[in-house]
Amino acid sequence: MARPRSASRTTARCVMRSNEAGSRLVYGPEVICVAPIGTVRADVVERVVRWLREALGLPVIIGRIPIDPEDAFLANRGQYDARRLLLELNEHSASAAVRLVGITESDLCNVILDFVFGEAQLDGNVAICSAYRLSEKGEAEGREEATARRLMKVVLHELGHVFGLSHCEDEDCAMHEAKSLADIDRRSTRYCSSCIEALSWEIRRRVPSATDAAVATSHAA
Ligand SMILES: [Zn+2]
Ligand SMILES: [Zn+2]
Repeated sequence: MARPRSASRTTARCVMRSNEAGSRLVYGPEVICVAPIGTVRADVVERVVRWLREALGLPVIIGRIPIDPEDAFLANRGQYDARRLLLELNEHSASAAVRLVGITESDLCNVILDFVFGEAQLDGNVAICSAYRLSEKGEAEGREEATARRLMKVVLHELGHVFGLSHCEDEDCAMHEAKSLADIDRRSTRYCSSCIEALSWEIRRRVPSATDAAVATSHAA
C-alpha cells in the first residue's frame, strides 16, 4: 500500500448520546473516544484530544464514562489495577468499531510490572493511559503542556496496540517501547513509515467509512 497522504478529515457524523436505558453510552461507528477516568485536568484532556485528531486524521471525541478508579484500587500496592480498568472500559465500548481510551491521573500497575504508563487490549477495543508518572519535579513553567504531550505519546502508543501494532525498533517511532520518562521524551509524536502503513491499513479495514482518512505523517506538537 502506498504511503498515506497527510491527514484529511472524515466528517464526525457520530455523536455520543444516551440510549433508551439512559445508563449506557452509544456511539457512532467511526469514533475514537477519549474518556477521563476520575479527575483529570480538562486542559490536559483537550490538548491530548486536539493533538490526537491531528496525528490520526480521525474523529476523536471526549466521552464521559461512569467508571470510578477507586473500584480498581489495590490497597496492598497503593496503586490502581490497569487490567481491571480495561475490563470496565470494555463494558462501555458499545460498538465494535469504537476505540475507547481512558485517561487517568491514578498510578497504574499490573500483576507483572511495578507501574505502567498505559495498557491496551491488543487488537481490541480499549486502552487506559495514566498521567501520574508523566511529570518531573522542578518542571514548573509549561509543566501542563509537557505532561499533556507525554500523555498524548502514551495514548498514541496504546492506540497502536489497540489497532494491532506491536513494538517497533525505530527509537523515534510512537510504537517504540518506553520504560521510563526519558524514553517517552525521546520518542516522537508520530509513527514511523512502516507503522503508519500498518495502522492505516487496520483503520481502513475496521472503519470502512474512513477510506479517505489517513494517519498524518507528522505532528505539530
Ligand atoms: Zn507497548
Ligand atoms: Zn514504527
